Amino acid sequence: MYFVTLIIVTIFCVLPLVYFWGRGKARQLRDTQKVLDGTRLDLIRQLREAEHFRMVAEHANDGIVIQDMDGSVVWPNPAYCRIMKRKAEDIIGRNPLEFALPNEDKPPPEAIEKFRYQRGSNNSTGLHLFRNVRGDGTMFWNQINVSIRQSADGNEHAILVCRDVTEQIEHEEKLHEARNKLEIAATHDSLTGLANRGALLRFTEDMLSLTAHRSGNVGLLHMDLDKFKEINDTHGHSAGDATLKHVADALRENVRSSDMVARVGGDEFVVVCPGVNALEDLEELGQSLANAISVPFEWRERTLVCRASIGAALSENDGLDSEELLLRADFALYEAKREGRDQVASYDEVLHQRHTLELRRGTELREAVLEHKLIHYFQPTLNLETGAIEGFETLVRWQHPEDGLIPPIHFLPMAEELGLMAELDFLSMDAALSMKALMDRSQMPGLKFAFNASGELLAHPEFIDRLMRGVLGRGIDPSQVVIEVLETTVIGDVQDENAPARVIAELRDAGFRVMLDDFGVGYAGLAHLAQLAVTGVKIDQSLVRNMMHDETSAKIVATIIELCENLELELIAEGVESHDMAGRLHELGCPILQGYWVSRPMPTEQVSNWLETGMPEDVSVQEVAG
Ligand code: C2E
Ligand code: CA
Ligand code: CA
Repeated sequence: MYFVTLIIVTIFCVLPLVYFWGRGKARQLRDTQKVLDGTRLDLIRQLREAEHFRMVAEHANDGIVIQDMDGSVVWPNPAYCRIMKRKAEDIIGRNPLEFALPNEDKPPPEAIEKFRYQRGSNNSTGLHLFRNVRGDGTMFWNQINVSIRQSADGNEHAILVCRDVTEQIEHEEKLHEARNKLEIAATHDSLTGLANRGALLRFTEDMLSLTAHRSGNVGLLHMDLDKFKEINDTHGHSAGDATLKHVADALRENVRSSDMVARVGGDEFVVVCPGVNALEDLEELGQSLANAISVPFEWRERTLVCRASIGAALSENDGLDSEELLLRADFALYEAKREGRDQVASYDEVLHQRHTLELRRGTELREAVLEHKLIHYFQPTLNLETGAIEGFETLVRWQHPEDGLIPPIHFLPMAEELGLMAELDFLSMDAALSMKALMDRSQMPGLKFAFNASGELLAHPEFIDRLMRGVLGRGIDPSQVVIEVLETTVIGDVQDENAPARVIAELRDAGFRVMLDDFGVGYAGLAHLAQLAVTGVKIDQSLVRNMMHDETSAKIVATIIELCENLELELIAEGVESHDMAGRLHELGCPILQGYWVSRPMPTEQVSNWLETGMPEDVSVQEVAG
């Protein structure tokens, strides 16, 4: 019974107990296993992370350093050692302030001793740039990114990420340098290093607006070297360059530090002088600069001297802009040259009056040219051999409303300066062609009509076209149209595509006559005659005049006449004022004459009448020719 009871108790009590205990144990074991598994995974993860950190720290290109808060290195990564060119053991425990800075940047030992990173202070956060020195003594730029972190033990550390940025800095410096150079090239003259025109105008403008609010004036000295071309022509361009440098030095050394010296053209310089009180002071400065310039200087064992003409102008608070002030100085400079060079001329009241008048004249002249208000006179040429009038030369005049009839010498230079010459010559060309057409239609066909062509007209792209249209439209024979070109205009490279010489050849090929004007006193010389495609020459008035009392002039005239005969060139002697002159020229063999003896230039309306009534009594061709 006991046994049975035991079995029953065992079955119903103990076995379930054992069963449940076993199950609990198994669950416990499973839980433990789970925990163990979790920890293992965690450890693996942590190990992996640690491996990643190690990889980053050891293989990063950037240097990484962990420092105590007093700056001593706890751990440097290999890149830091590489950048520093030092071993880890030479770095650990030391403050980089001791070993990474060049001597001149290094703080005193007490300061290094006292150094502490302070959370929140400037030294413990953000980017810093230092010039550092490596173990081998070479320098580099170290860009350091600092942050402060608390480690597991609760202590704070500074973490530095360092990067060698020398290349970028040098690249930036080079860029900066290149930008500076470009800036200098844009504002300076490369030969002398002086400011250029643009920089000068900007500076003058700034100084003018400054003085508008203060007392004092801005002075300008505009200078032009006398006979610079001669130095260039005699000694060559390098002597010219040496001269310009000498002048630049003389000016730089003798102006005040507040002045600006600029080179504004080939041999033109300008000094801007802010804060000048009176015109006399400026003139005095100008004189001292002229003296400095004229000090002889050495060039290749030769002694050279150059002098300058100077124009001085003062702003005098009258609201001028830089261009206007420069114009005034320029006008004064022109006066200095007119007065015989090598001197200073000031833009005073007298010059101001003259300048104002000239400016007004300029405006009026432009209007007269553009509105076709110029008039034309005609001067005949006489053929001694036939006793007939050869033709007429067209000569421009300006009928001014107040000043009356103005001769060309008084306005052609201005027209040239204003760039009006081509337009002006087109008017003379039209006047000549119209007159020629009129004569052809009336009683006098076959007369030649001449007009003067400036270099600007010859260079005008439409010149030949307009001339061709002018003759074709009027039914004129080109061989009765004469284009007179000054000897000085055709000087230059005969081979040059665009040179006047080419245009002259084109004119001759188209059947026009081309006469070389004022021949015998210019530069071209006899040799030029053979090269140029001219059809004839006009002997200059001065030679003709001098021929009467000077044997050399007479010989030159005789030679020109002979040469023209040999080269089969037409010949006209200009400025024939008397019967005797005409007789002498006839003796020498000159066939055609022009001058007051035949007739003064006459207005359009007199031409027909003059031709009809014939020549005045004293022009006795028979007597001269006979
Ligand atoms: P040029 O071409 O040599 O013209 C001759 C000049 O001498 C004219 O002066 C004429 O009036 C003057 N003349 C003529 N015979 C005598 C004389 O017997 N004695 C003296 N003393 N003078 C005489 P003008 O008309 O004053 O012209 C001066 C210069 O102006 C011309 O010299 C020419 O170079 C230039 N010129 C005139 N009209 C024009 C033009 O339409 N276009 C261009 N480009 N130049 C012109
Ligand atoms: Ca002429
Ligand atoms: Ca002439």
